[in-house]
Order: sequence, then C-alpha cells, then structure tokens
Amino acid sequence: MHPVLPPGATVVRCGPGHLQIGTTPPLRVPDLPGTAQVLRHADGATSARSLAEIAERDGAPSGRQLISTLLSRGALVPAAPAESSLPGITVVHEPLTARFAATLETAAASPGDDVTIVASLGEPYRPAIRDLGERGLSHLPVIFIQGYARIGPLTHPGSSPCLDCYDAGRSRTDPAWRAVAVHLGSGRPPGGPPSLALMLSAVGHTLELVRLGRIGRVVTVGPGRETGVTEPVGWDAACPCQLLAA
Ligand SMILES: [Zn+2]
Repeated sequence: MHPVLPPGATVVRCGPGHLQIGTTPPLRVPDLPGTAQVLRHADGATSARSLAEIAERDGAPSGRQLISTLLSRGALVPAAPAESSLPGITVVHEPLTARFAATLETAAASPGDDVTIVASLGEPYRPAIRDLGERGLSHLPVIFIQGYARIGPLTHPGSSPCLDCYDAGRSRTDPAWRAVAVHLGSGRPPGGPPSLALMLSAVGHTLELVRLGRIGRVVTVGPGRETGVTEPVGWDAACPCQLLAA
C-alpha cells in the first residue's frame, strides 16, 4: 500500500504539539516523533513500509503503528489508481452466502487477488482467517449474523489490524467475548440466508470499504443501522499479526 494525503490537503502546524491536515474539515493530529516526516513523504509513491522506516529514523517508537493510526484517522489515505477502479477481488463463500458473493462479484466487476473477501453466515472460523494473513493475503471478513452484517476489518497482513485484533478489542468491553471467540466458526447458526435488503446493503458497504481502502474499522449494517455504524479497530499489542511486518 502507498499512503498519500487526502486529495488537496496540505499540512500546517497549529499551536504547540499539533499538525493540521486540510481545511474542509480540518483534521488535527498530535505532532509525535516521525509524524511530520511521514506526512511530508506520503506522496503515493512511497510504500507504507518505507514511511514506517522514515518515522522510526525520526524517533517514532513504532513506525508501522504510526502509519496505521494516521490511516485510520483519515490523515492519510491509500493512493487509488483511479476513481472508478476497485482492487481485484476474490470472494470466498458458503452456500448460504452464495447470493451475496455473486451479487458482489457482478457489482465489482473486478476479479483478481488483491483482496480476498470471506463471506460467512455466522462468525467465521478464526484459523481460516488467520491462515490468509499468514499467507500474506489481504482479506476482508463479511459476517452475516442475527439479522445484521458486520464488515471488516480490511486486513493488509502486517500493515493493518486483523480480526484477532478486533476480538481482543471487543474482549475489553465484552469480557465473555474472548472465551466465545475461540469457538467462533466451529458451528453454523440456525436460520436461512440473509434477506435481500441486508445482502444488498452489505454489498454496497463492502464495495465502499474496499474501494476506499478503509482499514482499522468494522461497519455494521442492519435494522436501525441502515447507513452503517462504524467502530474503530486498533492493533492489539499481543497479536502475532504484527510480526508479519517484520
Ligand atoms: Zn492482529
């Protein structure tokens, strides 16, 4: 991935200890070691890994984490080759998510192996998702569960938080989640395929997330959440996915 400033945005210092990116609306980030250097070099041609090295030479304790934070806050965005183009996608599905997969593939019209989308009814089997990361494949879980769809996190292995990071974060607010998570995906929940309305909504949100390269977040859609509710997903310090960048 090659991060770049949002289109048209410039960086200025604003008061002690902060940098401002753009004006409409202005986005302020702390002027931590490495931040100004990263923003200066984020030209869409320099890779995220090179930017992380630049940050660490300038004193950042973890360049990769700094890049991830700037991306998740929107201070940097992935350089897109063209407005209309999507990364090439592969959709892995099961029988009850086949219609979602077919609709998504038709709407995207962009077959390829840039991002593997894993569509499951109920929580996906964690080792299968982990395996994609260990093979260095960018991936995006799309989970239909209890009348809702949860999309994300879009994971570029070693460069953005993974589903295990999501589980760890969720465990902090829902102590039962870690105990539940180890069993996730080992059984199929009761019920039929997702409704047409939910399926189409999930297709739209999935395409948007992939097209814009939105990492570090999950979006939940469904009844009462038609426009999508976004939650941040941060790195879990203990998650082995971070070793993938080494
Ligand atoms: Zn992780």
